[in-house]
Amino acid sequence: AKRAGKGRVVWLSARGETAPVARQAQLRRRLQLAVAAGGFRLHYQPLLDLATDGSLAVEALLRWHDEVLGSVPPSEFIPVAESVNLIQQIGRWVFNEACAQAGAWLEAGSPRTISINVSPIQLAANKVVGELLAAMAAHRVPAELIRVEITESSAIADFPRAIKQLAQLREAGIGVDLDDFGTGYSSVGMLRDLPLNTVKIDKSFIDNIDTSEREAAFVGGLINIAHAWGLKVTAEGVERPEQLEVLRELGCDTAQGYYISRPASASDLPGAQALAALQRPQPAAVL
Ligand code: C2E
Ligand code: MG
Ligand code: MG
Ligand code: MG
Repeated sequence: AKRAGKGRVVWLSARGETAPVARQAQLRRRLQLAVAAGGFRLHYQPLLDLATDGSLAVEALLRWHDEVLGSVPPSEFIPVAESVNLIQQIGRWVFNEACAQAGAWLEAGSPRTISINVSPIQLAANKVVGELLAAMAAHRVPAELIRVEITESSAIADFPRAIKQLAQLREAGIGVDLDDFGTGYSSVGMLRDLPLNTVKIDKSFIDNIDTSEREAAFVGGLINIAHAWGLKVTAEGVERPEQLEVLRELGCDTAQGYYISRPASASDLPGAQALAALQRPQPAAVL
C-alpha cells in the first residue's frame, strides 16, 4: 500500500510500520546480500518460570548487522523481508540456527527450550511444519525443546490454513504460543479458536501494572481467561522488580523482559546464579 504524506511517498508494511521508499530499497538490496552471505545471528532472551524461579527456556531473536547500514532492528527489516519474500529463506536460516543451538545445549547436558518467531507470511506459504521438522531432525532436537510464536495477524490472514498448520505443529509435540496478545487484531476469540499452549501478553499491558490497580486488574482478568481455557500465560516486557511481584500475585506463569535479562548471544546468556538474584525476597528471620 502507498500513502502520500507531505508529498513524500511512504511504504506501508504488513505490520503497519512505514519506511521511506529510498531506505526501503536500500534495505532490500542489503538484505539480499545478507541472505546470500550469512549476515544474521540469533540472540536469546530467557523466560523466567515464576513457579520455579528458574529459566530453562529462551526466545530466539534475529539480529542483523550490515556493513553499510549498521545494526538494523527486526521491526524494520522483517517487514521488508516479508514484502520481497526473503522471509522464507531467512526463516529457514532461523529454524536451522535455533535447532543447531538447541542441539548443542542438549549435547552439553544443559538443554533449553527455544521459542522461534514465525512470520504470518511464512505460515501462509504452508512450509513451516516441514521445514521446522527437517531442521529439528538434522540437529537431533526433540520436539519438547522447540516452540513456535505466532502473531494474531498470521491467524487472521487465512484462518483455516493457520489452524491446520498450528494443529500439525502441536501434533508433532511443538508448543504453539500466541505472541503480542492484545495488540493488532485482538480478540479473545483467538484464544478459544486457535490450537495454542501459551498466550504472551504484550508489553503495553504490562508497562503500568505496578503503578495502576486498573491495569493490574486488567492483566489479572486476561490471565484468568487464559487459565480458564487451559492456556499458560507469559508476560512480555518486564522491566522492573515491582512488575514481577505483581505478576506473581496475579498467578502469571512466565515472565520475560529486560529486568530478567536482555537478549544476548548464546555464550553471554545469564546462568542460574544470575537469575537467582531475581528470586522472591526471603522472609526476614524472626529474632
Ligand atoms: P517479539 O517476538 O514480541 O519479541 C520481543 C521483543 O521485545 C524483542 O525485540 C525484545 O528484544 C524486546 N524486549 C524484550 N524484553 C523487553 C523489555 O523489557 N523492554 C523492551 N522495551 N523491549 C523488550 P526485537 O528483538 O527487536 O524483536 C522485535 C520483533 O521482531 C519480535 O517481537 C518479533 O515479532 C520479530 N522477530 C524477531 N526475531 C524474529 C525472527 O527470527 N523471525 C520473525 N519472523 N520475526 C522475528
Ligand atoms: Mg516473540
Ligand atoms: Mg512478543
Ligand atoms: Mg512484541
